[in-house]
Amino acid sequence: MSKSLIQLKREAIESTTFRGHDMGEWNDVYKGTSVCHCKVCNMQVAVTTNPAPNDIDIGGEAVALGCIDQGSILYTVTAKGYVISVLDSDGSVTESYTAYNHPHDSGQQLLIDDPIALTIDQLRVMAKATAEDMAIEYDILLKNIHEESIDIIVTGGNDNE
Ligand SMILES: [Zn+2]
Repeated sequence: MSKSLIQLKREAIESTTFRGHDMGEWNDVYKGTSVCHCKVCNMQVAVTTNPAPNDIDIGGEAVALGCIDQGSILYTVTAKGYVISVLDSDGSVTESYTAYNHPHDSGQQLLIDDPIALTIDQLRVMAKATAEDMAIEYDILLKNIHEESIDIIVTGGNDNE
């Protein structure tokens, strides 16, 4: 009649994920009762197979409230390189990172037909990986990373006046 702890945990993760949380590991506080916390906002969810009368089997602020808005990361990839921007929750840019093709030499801009230039697909993979590293550094949820498809011109190196 009552739900298993595994079932309760699964339901708790479903509803907290729906609210934007990124939940950490479960801690079994005592038999039949576990808690875990959001890695971003630290809100808690608790599940118990033996709720007190008039109590609930899944509770905690993480099932009732949405995760705090941690901002987002936008990246744009062109054949010339990529630009990654970290945005605040209000949309202002707090950090920007530019890598040119070839990215490991970020001060130089290679010609597109240079034999060691990377393809745009290779650049996209690198941009995504770097964006994910920046998301961890800035406590931004990975689902808040977006690629912008607008065509921007990456300038730099000797092309600047
Ligand atoms: Zn959260």
